[in-house]
Amino acid sequence: MNNFTTVFIGLGSNLSDPAEQINSALNELAQLTSSQALQCAPWYSSKAIGPGDQPDYINTVVKLETTLAPEELLDELQSIEKRHGRQRNIRWGARTLDLDILLFGEDSISTHRLEIPHPEMSWRGFVLKPLFDLAPALVLPKGRSVKDYLTACDTSDLRLLKDIFIEQ
Ligand code: ATP
Ligand code: CA
Ligand code: CA
Repeated sequence: MNNFTTVFIGLGSNLSDPAEQINSALNELAQLTSSQALQCAPWYSSKAIGPGDQPDYINTVVKLETTLAPEELLDELQSIEKRHGRQRNIRWGARTLDLDILLFGEDSISTHRLEIPHPEMSWRGFVLKPLFDLAPALVLPKGRSVKDYLTACDTSDLRLLKDIFIEQ
């Protein structure tokens, strides 16, 4: 029997028609090899946290089941980013598509390519809000709930764009 792990992936885009970038990324994630049961949180717009005067982001979170290993999943996500013309010039610069692995089951991972849970997720409203929408009872590997982190977080820059759940 296949051993599926539940993973949460954060999506963000603020370049080249972000809604289209997120939409097509969702289609690609729904087709991801060795994976199934994709669910998507509502979409939010958020103010960019990176340097310079950047356009607003569209952010959401996806939940899926996969038999891929963590680094295999990262490889798949980075090829999707590449197909979307993602460039890495300036840290936290504007981007067509960013796909971060937020949680990989209950694993805590620290390698030269991967930190899981994603090290910045516990204070980012644009991650916590859609994550909470999808999984309100979720508890992080350290034992604190997403709800707790969200309560402590400033979400005043978030605007709900699309109040739908996509299940495929
Ligand atoms: P941030 O990590 O603060 O959200 P970013 O998403 O802009 O910043 P990137 O340039 O997309 O950062 O990624 C830099 C590197 O982060 C990637 O090459 C990847 O190896 C590494 N990385 C570490 N942990 C993760 C993770 N959980 N998900 C995705 N990439 C990760
Ligand atoms: Ca990121
Ligand atoms: Ca990233």
